[in-house]
Formats: sequence, C-alpha cells, structure tokens
Amino acid sequence: MSFNDNAKLDPSQVEDVRGRRVGGGGLAVGGGLTLVILVVSLLLGVDPTAILNSVPTGTTTTDPNAQTVADCKTGADANKREDCRIVGYVDAIQQYWTDELAKHGSQYTLAPTVLYTDVTQAGCGTASAEMGPFYCPVDGKVYLDLAFFTELQTRFGAQGGPFAEAYVVAHEYGHHVQDILGILSNDQRTGPQSISVKQELQADCFSGVWTKHAAETGYLQAPTDADIASALDAAAAVGDDRIQKETSGKVAPEAWTHGSAAQRQQWFTTGYSTGDYTRCTP
Ligand SMILES: [Zn+2]
Repeated sequence: MSFNDNAKLDPSQVEDVRGRRVGGGGLAVGGGLTLVILVVSLLLGVDPTAILNSVPTGTTTTDPNAQTVADCKTGADANKREDCRIVGYVDAIQQYWTDELAKHGSQYTLAPTVLYTDVTQAGCGTASAEMGPFYCPVDGKVYLDLAFFTELQTRFGAQGGPFAEAYVVAHEYGHHVQDILGILSNDQRTGPQSISVKQELQADCFSGVWTKHAAETGYLQAPTDADIASALDAAAAVGDDRIQKETSGKVAPEAWTHGSAAQRQQWFTTGYSTGDYTRCTP
C-alpha cells in the first residue's frame, strides 16, 4: 500500500516523544502508581499491571538532533520514512472513522498516537515497549514504540512490511472507536468465548473495515493482494495460540485474551470483505 505522493499529512495527530530517554535506573517495579487500569494491547504478553505499576527512574534527556514527525508533510514523506508512514496511517484511519461515525450519528474524537522509545508515562501508568502497542482509555491515546515492528518479525515470526504496520495501528484505533461507541469493556476474564477475546477480534475486524475504505480517505492507494496478505500474516503472528506455542510450547485456550491466529485472520477478513463495521460482531 502506497501513499499518494501529494497527500498532505497532519503530523499533529502524532506526539513524538522518541529519544526522550530516561537515564539512570530504568524501571523501578512496584514504586509509584498502584492503579490497576485497563489498557488494550495488541497481543497476549507480559502482565500489563506489572509494567504499569513500575515507574521510570532517573532523569530525562532529549536528543536535540533526533528527527521528529514534524517533518512529515506529504504522502511522499510517508513513502520514504517509517515514522512519516505511521503519521500517514494515523491520519487516514482517523479521517475514515470521522466520516463513517458521522454517517451513523456518532462523533469521532481525534486520538493522538504517542511515538516513544523504551518507556514513557501514559495516562494509564508507565508505557513500556515490552507491552507492545496499546490504547489507553484514560487519556484516549495510542502508544507505540516503533521497535515493536522489528519484534513482530524477529520475536513473533511475522513477515512484516508496511501493511503489517497499518494493521497494527488500525487495530489500536479500533479500540478507540469501541471507546467512543461505549462498548469498551474492562472484563478481565479469558478464554476463546470471553468478552476480552471478542473485543480484540472486533478491533481486528475494524482494522479490516478501515483497510477496505483506506483509499477513499485520499491518503492511500488501494491495498494490493500482497498488502492484505501481510496484514493477515501479522494478525496470525499475534494470535494467542501462536504466542503460547512460542513461549511455553503448549496451547492453553482458557488463558486466551486476544483470540487464536485463525480467529484473528477470520475477523480481519470479515471487516475487509464487508467494509461494514456493524458486521463486526464476534
Ligand atoms: Zn487490542
């Protein structure tokens, strides 16, 4: 999927705090906030409350020479630079949902994506790259460390590619849409039929719906078959059964929080083939 070179990007939809590194001790687990707040992440992984109860220690420094997304002005920039590509996806995703929810009598509110490196402070606690991308309903922001996209290939065995990234970003915005529609749940129960799995599959479906309509936003050309294949490949890579097999060698459906590889592919496909978010009812 390529951006239209002349598309005008709005970099203000991405808060770039990369390179603001915390020096000194890193993370102090157990200190500071003891809030247990729902975050909606992309994948099954470390216990998010363990991470969120930790706080960065030491001092924060900013590299004055770092590139920022403020330079991301056009689709041509998005075709050249990964951070600008994320700006382009965020803009196109939010444009789609603004228009689509208006048709259904709902008002979409813009949610920024925070691009960070390693750790940053989120409204839900401390965001750490280990958690993978997530949506924080408290501040209504998506948190993303670009290093995750390398991990998606090296740790989760995905093929990667730009459209794997689009799938991930659109999934997180799916949670923001759920939040706006008042259907975001903090039910923590697990298992293939649990509310948390259904909620994650719905976010995958919303990602597919956006993909179907992505070109209509004016930012992007229509996705190719190869783009769809890389989205499906990424969706499978973050399937609970795949992650469980990778980390413990066995599959335990009762612990699923996001759904199996097959379920995640199925619901992305439902969204993409219908292009209708009201059909996203796992
Ligand atoms: Zn999710």
